[in-house]
Amino acid sequence: MARIVQKFGGTSVADLNRIRNAAERVKRAVDAGDQVAVVVSAMAGETNRLVDLVRQASPLHDAREYDAVVASGEQVTSGLMAIVLQTMGIQARSFQGWQMPLKTDNAHSRARILEIDTTLMRQRMDEGVVAVCAGFQGVSNVGRITTLGRGGSDTSAVALAAALEADRCDIFTDVDGVYTCDPRIVTKARKLDRITYEEMLEMASLGAKVLQTRSVELAMNHRVRVQVLSSFEDKPGTLVVDEDEIMEHEVVSGIAYNRDEAKITLRRVADRPGVAAAIFGPLADAGINVDMIVQNVSADGETTDMTFTVGKADLDRVNALLKDKQATIGFGEVICDSGVVKVSIIGVGMRSHAGVAQKMFSTLAERGINIQVISTSEIKVSILIAEDYAELALRALHTAYGLDAIG
Ligand code: ADP
Ligand code: ASP
Ligand code: MG
Repeated sequence: MARIVQKFGGTSVADLNRIRNAAERVKRAVDAGDQVAVVVSAMAGETNRLVDLVRQASPLHDAREYDAVVASGEQVTSGLMAIVLQTMGIQARSFQGWQMPLKTDNAHSRARILEIDTTLMRQRMDEGVVAVCAGFQGVSNVGRITTLGRGGSDTSAVALAAALEADRCDIFTDVDGVYTCDPRIVTKARKLDRITYEEMLEMASLGAKVLQTRSVELAMNHRVRVQVLSSFEDKPGTLVVDEDEIMEHEVVSGIAYNRDEAKITLRRVADRPGVAAAIFGPLADAGINVDMIVQNVSADGETTDMTFTVGKADLDRVNALLKDKQATIGFGEVICDSGVVKVSIIGVGMRSHAGVAQKMFSTLAERGINIQVISTSEIKVSILIAEDYAELALRALHTAYGLDAIG
């Protein structure tokens, strides 16, 4: 007997027929003698609808009430899944975040999991009951409903698998695994049988939304065996594994993109010690994440340009903050550009190979694509380009690194 967690994403529970289809998979595991905890997302499109309602009610809303509203999508699907399982003769009950409880900090709309108390759930599972958990939600130490950030049901599932010491965490979704690039954009993308935790972490944090970044972090830290697979087809998916479980490493194993960043350039910034701290200090204080940063050498010894990226959602706030501090920081003007995309190549094999970034630059140069910002780390190279070139760049790089599927 194994103890497994099965997570079904939004498209896999989009309507009652799909919930029945997902429930069949749960039944198969139960019939095989496994103990199963199920984690469900809201029906496809439902969370967007709820977010939209909140924004219409008030653009500047109480974050605690935002969570109370958007968490409701998962409450519906967990109840429906339990009912459907019961109609199949399987004992099942739903667990909301507060009922487990899944305790989080109180950073509403992007809460982090602190602890999951699985006592009650384990008792019920030992009695042969399937625990159907509402993903994406938890409860704060003052008893308010929290949510874990968009895509957060993946994190609920992996955290639950760690807390239950599950043998496996299966993430059922609308693609049959993790691909070398988003298969909806690069049709020649190839499915990976295995991917390392590290590469998956980079892929997720650089924009591949197939798994939420935090879920991969948790899986890596707690050594949870995660498999990403299709809820519609019966075939093996992609296993996320340790580096030593993969014999041959590609130099570049995946390409990711992120359209959610915007570029900000500060012109004629005073070239003096402390200027970077003066710019980024107030942004950090306002809880704004800055990603790529470039500062040029000053041509005249007096001023230079500083370029960096922030989330598109934060752009207006950053613009206002900088203008407010313009006199104290000392710069000429702010230029904002949200028409950019970040494209990244990822691979643990990069550690031991030279010329990997150069291939990226020359491939883009051959297509006349201008690179605006570059940043690198041990196993990735990211560049910022104009959004209009996103698909062309992704396809060209995919071919250049030999990732295209054969046939
Ligand atoms: P779910 O609702 O099941 O959580 P998501 O929409 O969050 O599903 O994630 C699955 C989607 O991730 C796919 O439909 C695909 O378009 C996208 N995706 C992006 N990059 C990749 C990748 N490298 N491999 C597979 N899917 C990817
Ligand atoms: N329903 C939530 C969202 O759409 C969480 C999830 O699906 O993982 O972001
Ligand atoms: Mg998802």
